[in-house]
Amino acid sequence: MKVIVDFDVCESNAVCMQVAPDVFEVRDDDFLYVLVDEIGPDEESAVSEAARRCPRQAITLRT
Ligand code: SF4
Repeated sequence: MKVIVDFDVCESNAVCMQVAPDVFEVRDDDFLYVLVDEIGPDEESAVSEAARRCPRQAITLRT
């Protein structure tokens, strides 16, 4: 699955990083970086949880 972040609405609050740190990283420059574009089955539940908890609804998973 592919991870898509709408950076126009992301506010870099790092909620997703807390849930799925292997995939999302907010760096010192205060921008969110997506570390893995294509996630495997192992990461799917954590990324789905991150998408659900993102207060800005900025994360989309696409097959
Ligand atoms: S949880 Fe949403 S708003 Fe927060 S850093 Fe992640 S994508 Fe951006």
